[in-house]
Amino acid sequence: MSQSSPIKLPNMSNYWMPFTANRQFRSMPRLFKAAKGNYFTSIDDRQILDGTAGLWCVPAGHGRTEIATAVGNQLLTLDYAPAFQSSHPLAFEAAERVAAYMPEGLDRIFFTNSGSESADTALKIALAYHRVCGNPLRNKLIGRERGYHGVNFGGIAVGGIAGNRKAFGNGLAGVDHIRNPLDIAKNAFTKGVPADGGVALANEFEQRILTLHDPSTIAALIVEPMQGSAGVVVPPAGYLKRLREICTQYGILLIFDEVITGFGRLGTKFGADYFDVIPDIITCAKGLTNGVVPMGAVAVKREIYDAFMEKSPAGAIELPHGYTYSAIPIACAAAIATLNIFAAERLEDRAAGLSAYFEQAAHSLKGLPMVKDIRNIGLVAGIEFEVIAGKAGAMAFATYLKCFEMGIHVRFTGDIIAISPPLTIEKHEIDRIFNTLADAIKSVAAAGE
Ligand code: PLP
Repeated sequence: MSQSSPIKLPNMSNYWMPFTANRQFRSMPRLFKAAKGNYFTSIDDRQILDGTAGLWCVPAGHGRTEIATAVGNQLLTLDYAPAFQSSHPLAFEAAERVAAYMPEGLDRIFFTNSGSESADTALKIALAYHRVCGNPLRNKLIGRERGYHGVNFGGIAVGGIAGNRKAFGNGLAGVDHIRNPLDIAKNAFTKGVPADGGVALANEFEQRILTLHDPSTIAALIVEPMQGSAGVVVPPAGYLKRLREICTQYGILLIFDEVITGFGRLGTKFGADYFDVIPDIITCAKGLTNGVVPMGAVAVKREIYDAFMEKSPAGAIELPHGYTYSAIPIACAAAIATLNIFAAERLEDRAAGLSAYFEQAAHSLKGLPMVKDIRNIGLVAGIEFEVIAGKAGAMAFATYLKCFEMGIHVRFTGDIIAISPPLTIEKHEIDRIFNTLADAIKSVAAAGE
């Protein structure tokens, strides 16, 4: 937004923006006032093509009247019901619908309000499960380097993005991290899933728990099937399957954080479906309500839930955990309306059908100045830039700004631009995203960012 814009900006003194360089933002604000379909309207009345589905969270496109109507009606019918020790029918219906959307067997659903809460809930369920089963010494949690599991204390502990942790001290004890699957030296510009090395990489997990830990002390391993926030890291073939085998062998719960990969992003319902690997617990959020009402969910295997029900003392609260807004009626209404849209429009299949075209368009950027790697899967692509000494992130940030100026919303994370449009995107819009991105990259590189 140019400073000469006649648009009246809001008073920006009071709102402390999340994950934003607040001082920098105020000097060049980027504000939206409306959204419909695959487009935002900026406050200076420009149409901005949404290349990121909001924050990966609007798979069905913006301004869906079905969801708005369901939420509005629900607000006027039952605005709130106490979530502890009482409930409302829609909570059970929403859980039934989410369970039906999950991979077979993951059909016991705990509702949260976000991906971060889903991650921490999943970790707590894993720890509590081993305790309820009489194994309190199984209390270590393993994540991955560069993993992102939200911003709560459990999530930042198992998460592997150092920048998100170091501002807050040490966090949880008893946490370890395994190696990130990204290997640019070997796999640069691979289209889709890298073919080799998956089993060997997963075997490093086994080696690590055998040499650095006693495997019988590990409660859970948490991974994103495709790492989004780390800049679109697609695991090599066989990697997740081998992790599954190792977890099963040693009695470790495998948690898939599907906050990004859930709801059609990879061209399947979940990443678990894409990779044909069934974890013990799946966390999700974002697309669950098409991003319009905060809601997350944790789906657990029935055996895990049954252990709580069978082994806890009669009459006791089996899991002393929950949120005032767990399964709040408007979130349930939004989730059911969103799942109706997925069923009617088969958005996962739509994403799968577009993925080859999207892949081609993304990889057309190969050879542009500063482009070091391009990675993709389903309707996600990451473009990683060379780092000029002392200027980490500068190229990606400048490219993001240039794209915004040129009418496309992309996301930057570190030295990477990520593209993850609504699953309702059209081919000509895919072309526009990557053509604009190409022009932006050339222009920024020429200016010497
Ligand atoms: N887990 C993953 C894999 C995510 O990508 C995110 C957010 O991007 C989260 C958890 C946190 O979700 P939220 O921002 O809703 O707390």
